[in-house]
Amino acid sequence: MDTPPLAPGLYIVATPIGNLGDVTRRALETLERCSVIACEDTRVTGKLLNLLGLHKVMRRYDDHASDAAREALLSEMAQNSVALVSDAGTPLISDPGYKLVREARARGIAVTSVPGPSALVVALSMAGLPTDRFMFAGFLPSKDKARRDVLTELAAVPATLVFYETGPRLVASLEALAECLPGREVAVARELTKLHEECRSGSAQELLAHYSEHPPKGEIVLLVGPPLAQEAPDDDVIEAELRNALAEMSTSQAAGKVAKAHGLDRKTLYALAMTLKS
Ligand code: SAM
Repeated sequence: MDTPPLAPGLYIVATPIGNLGDVTRRALETLERCSVIACEDTRVTGKLLNLLGLHKVMRRYDDHASDAAREALLSEMAQNSVALVSDAGTPLISDPGYKLVREARARGIAVTSVPGPSALVVALSMAGLPTDRFMFAGFLPSKDKARRDVLTELAAVPATLVFYETGPRLVASLEALAECLPGREVAVARELTKLHEECRSGSAQELLAHYSEHPPKGEIVLLVGPPLAQEAPDDDVIEAELRNALAEMSTSQAAGKVAKAHGLDRKTLYALAMTLKS
């Protein structure tokens, strides 16, 4: 086949997240026609190229690459076409490439995106959670305290939350979710586009019970539905709760506790608590 080289520049090429059939025609053509392929792991990308019947020059690249390695790629793309791929899915989405794209753009090098699969979009499209607003938050921290801190920070975000997850950590994350974001709808999307694809929905407690019994294998996207709209409680309910809390703790703590429980403004409740005390 006649494969004229591409114009010089950087081509961000998405590759399948499991099912080889998801490679796009444009991705195939770009990989075939580019001069060099920059990739995270030459063995992983080598396997993909083999399956696609392509033989290309590969250069290892990630965001921890030395300045010299990045400089060499930038010089290359000023003259030739460089395709950037990651191990799977869309480069830069929890994958390397950001520094390279940023620097290429700063130098006026043409940057083209060749879109395709990304696990976060596949998961969102099949989980049955609201998609009008979502927040992708990458991987949760591996340490328990840091993980809970992040979840507490995100609790009030009025959107579906999307996390990348691993099998060995799923149960710990579900435990933290059950505690920090109680009552929310959760979905676990696993092995997307592959033979054992599954998407299981329920509360964090229900999913915790399931995955504690059936330790999950493979790759996972964890989704959490938006906060439930709370009905504003009656003023006398709030007052009663505040009085109870004031009997046990400081004014500030009481205001904080009741504000958190009902999603109300802490300062307003503090003022009310001061009035109740006097
Ligand atoms: N750049 C990739 C993308 O666009 O989806 C993501 C790379 S990130 C390093 C790898 C994580 O993506 C996995 O740990 C998992 O959370 C998610 N992932 C990738 N492929 C997946 C699949 N087939 N099913 C479920 N999750 C997947």
